[in-house]
Amino acid sequence: MNIFISADMEGMAGIVGWHQAEHTERDYGMARLWMTQQVNAAIEGAINAGATSILVKDAHETATNILLDKLHPAAELISGWGPLGSMVEGVDESFDAVMLLGYHARAMTIGGTLAHTWSGNVLDLRLNGEPIGETAWAAAFAGHFNVPIALITGDDKLKEQVDHELPPGFHYVITKTGMAHKAARLRPLADVCEEIRDTAAASLADLEGLPVFKPHLPATVSIRFRHWEGLDICAAVPGVQRLDVATFQFQAADMIEAQKYFATLHRLAPRS
Ligand SMILES: [Zn+2]
Repeated sequence: MNIFISADMEGMAGIVGWHQAEHTERDYGMARLWMTQQVNAAIEGAINAGATSILVKDAHETATNILLDKLHPAAELISGWGPLGSMVEGVDESFDAVMLLGYHARAMTIGGTLAHTWSGNVLDLRLNGEPIGETAWAAAFAGHFNVPIALITGDDKLKEQVDHELPPGFHYVITKTGMAHKAARLRPLADVCEEIRDTAAASLADLEGLPVFKPHLPATVSIRFRHWEGLDICAAVPGVQRLDVATFQFQAADMIEAQKYFATLHRLAPRS
């Protein structure tokens, strides 16, 4: 059984602020250790359930957060961003399930711990007219390869959103209760790790029951940016329609093409 794990940081247990989640900041060293520990808990659960191969994708900020010397020795690690800029880049048809750990609610979510969508520059991302966050977006990328979602971890606000955005059947561990953008009621780390270990194992007991997220294709995607002043360049991308000063829309044949458009527009859009 081949398992793919994608790890973000903002939704990990213990994380409430950018003083932890940015590599230049005060508490980053501790935060990346906590992140690695929670990834290890999922790896242990997967092994307990019979996983024979585990590939971890670091998917936060520089994508070089997970401590290789502390990572469970059964896993290999994708460190850094691939050309598509996907949080699950590296997944393919050979995997039996994906786990999305430490994810967070989308931009403009009240009480969502460090809620955002990819960066501070995206206020709204929509797939076929429905708001979508990074979690379901990653699930759709995995779904392109027919790989189901086994486990998601993050705060309670993300759980509400993915319960709506994704088909049912995945497992979820609530790492904390979001109170404000930079505040949460934190569970003890050991308790969360134990629950991740147990739930990861349980989630792989019935692979057939796990949901594969396959949005309607061709997909219509729109992105609304925060900073509108320099967005004329995004209107120059072939196939992209400007709906208003800060909102762009495109059609994608599949979710790989959607990711290419998203990454391109996001890289072009000035951040201030
Ligand atoms: Zn992140």
